[in-house]
Amino acid sequence: MLDVLIIGAGAAGMSCGLVLGSAKNRPYVVNKKIAIVTHQKTSHLQTALFNNILGISPGTTGTSILKSGKKQLKDLYPHITQIENEKVCDIVKTSNCFEVSTNKNTYKSKIVVVAVGYTNLITINGLESYIEPHPRAEKEKNKIWLKNTDHLITDNLYVVGTLAGWRSQFAIASGSGAHVATDILTLWNNDKHTKVHDKISG
Ligand SMILES: Cc1cc2nc3c(=O)[nH]c(=O)nc-3n(C[C@H](O)[C@H](O)[C@H](O)COP(=O)(O)OP(=O)(O)OC[C@H]3O[C@@H](n4cnc5c(N)ncnc54)[C@H](O)[C@@H]3O)c2cc1C
Repeated sequence: MLDVLIIGAGAAGMSCGLVLGSAKNRPYVVNKKIAIVTHQKTSHLQTALFNNILGISPGTTGTSILKSGKKQLKDLYPHITQIENEKVCDIVKTSNCFEVSTNKNTYKSKIVVVAVGYTNLITINGLESYIEPHPRAEKEKNKIWLKNTDHLITDNLYVVGTLAGWRSQFAIASGSGAHVATDILTLWNNDKHTKVHDKISG
């Protein structure tokens, strides 16, 4: 049984994973099992070129961020399992968890974070009842969101990034993933607000 399963490894999913991973030494995080389905084929980062992101060198490609993001997660936070070469097909809520099926396996997780982007080509069964037209995108583009309140769709089911209803900017999607990571950490910390800051020593 996983504690958190993040579905999708674009801007929002990987940012969520990085912040969760960075809390690894907190007592309320020790023994928590976290995994991310690192599907990247349909990420909007695949064709993006970035000049307007703070801290990222102008001219950086989205494809390089997809690669370096997975490496950063693996190098710094190897306790987060990266599930490669799988695509999520179904999410089923059971009495005590979610059962998430991919084209190859089924995983059980107490919390699920959906980070698959806002395309109306979404193919995950079990989310249909939450799909609505995206509130902050051009109507003719037929983008969707999963109806949520402050990223929470229903108990223990979160949505992040563009699919959460945010406009499509890298920093917004990343911030959304980071936001939910701190919500989950706060939950694990008995609702005491938490964040993770590394600082220079000396
Ligand atoms: C051409 C282009 C240029 C852009 N330029 C800029 C720019 O200059 N500045 C800027 O700020 N923003 C830019 N953006 C926007 C930015 O790329 C997006 O806002 C950001 O990628 C959205 O992040 P996300 O995590 O919501 O979605 P995505 O990054 O699209 O990630 C979704 C992830 O979910 C995965 N996935 C999908 N289905 C499944 C499934 N069934 N199972 C498992 N995983 C799945 C995908 O493969 C992908 O990895 C650009 C976008 C495009 C397309």
